[in-house]
Amino acid sequence: MSHKADITIIGAGVVGLAIAAQVASQDREVYVLEKNETFGLEISSRQSGVIHSGIYYPEGSLKAKMCVAGNRILYELCERYGIGQRRLGKLIVATSDEETGELQTLLERGQRNGAEGLRILSKREMKELEPNIEGVAAILSPSTGIIDSYALMKYFIAKAKDGGVQIAYQTKVVGIEKVADGYKVTVEDGTGKFSFTTRLLINCAGLHCDKVAELAGIDIAKAGYKLHYCKGEYFSISSRKSILVKRLIYPVPPPKVTGVGIHLTFDLEGRMRLGPSIHYVDSIDYAVDDQHKQLFYDSVRRFLPSIEYDDLEPEMAGIRPKLQESGGDIKDFVIRDESDKGLPGFINLIGIESPGLTACPAIAKYVWGLIEELVIR
Ligand SMILES: Cc1cc2nc3c(=O)[nH]c(=O)nc-3n(C[C@H](O)[C@H](O)[C@H](O)COP(=O)(O)OP(=O)(O)OC[C@H]3O[C@@H](n4cnc5c(N)ncnc54)[C@H](O)[C@@H]3O)c2cc1C
Repeated sequence: MSHKADITIIGAGVVGLAIAAQVASQDREVYVLEKNETFGLEISSRQSGVIHSGIYYPEGSLKAKMCVAGNRILYELCERYGIGQRRLGKLIVATSDEETGELQTLLERGQRNGAEGLRILSKREMKELEPNIEGVAAILSPSTGIIDSYALMKYFIAKAKDGGVQIAYQTKVVGIEKVADGYKVTVEDGTGKFSFTTRLLINCAGLHCDKVAELAGIDIAKAGYKLHYCKGEYFSISSRKSILVKRLIYPVPPPKVTGVGIHLTFDLEGRMRLGPSIHYVDSIDYAVDDQHKQLFYDSVRRFLPSIEYDDLEPEMAGIRPKLQESGGDIKDFVIRDESDKGLPGFINLIGIESPGLTACPAIAKYVWGLIEELVIR
């Protein structure tokens, strides 16, 4: 590792890797630092793998803009580079007349956000597409799909490495200090601690991004960067039942959209799973509580009554890095250069929860825009 990098990215999850692929160039020295032994072991490997269309997020928010743009870019990348995906489409199913009213609100918001091809289906139209689903009406989102997120990360790594980016695993950032022309970064690897300087520093540390921001001297409480961990558990559904539906099936989301409600998705092998649930937690722990099975069962049988209790098995869990407190208002992604905090060239990405996977290539372009502004300034 040279002692003067141009750009250093903290975190080799899907977001840090998308940025590494975007900024890669033989003309600059770029590093990705990752504390784990390999890439993508945290949020990016414990998620649903859905390419969202951009329905849920407030109009004009970064979440909405990056999701809609990312959706298009991801499908193009998948097609061009053979990354696994299936454009299955999705239904948001209303199971009561009350929820039907909410469908119209969601449809209009999604359309304003630019989500493609949304339309409301009557009960008859819904039944034609998905005969086993029970409900009174639904939104059809044809551009929702699933992606092989591992293959996507491998693609970003290959592109980054082609452009000369170096990725250092088992390298944890433990200190950040502002110096004359950038930042002195102190890292800890298997051999001990050492420091180097970098002109630009990009914080993509996922569940630990608030702590990394704090290392640079930011008061995270004052800045509104304190993360709240929110666990999402998944239960798999017996393979015998996988033939019951063809699309991803979502309920009408609960108020304040802490999540989008326990839904039914597939992986690329066609295995059906339910989740993720929502439980705010104090620490990172990926155990799935079998006691929550009833909650999953009650959620799914509202729209898919032919599922039986014994079809469900605990599968896995992920943790969301939320800026939104339990019961609090929805919060947008924070993606910003911290010049106004006296830290020019320190770019923070905070609270990159869902739709972060969908949004990652658009986030990477947005960060590139911030870098260009800094360089030109
Ligand atoms: C349950 C769940 C379901 C989801 N489903 C979807 C979905 O279907 N579709 C969608 O679009 N999005 C989804 N998301 C969101 C998406 O998965 C995330 O937005 C995305 O994976 C975040 O990637 P990341 O790179 O920011 O974080 P991560 O993948 O966590 O990467 C951050 C990396 O930083 C490293 N790091 C942290 N601190 C340091 C340090 N000090 N030094 C060095 N390295 C460090 C970590 O080890 C980690 O590897 C879901 C998220 C969850 C939790």
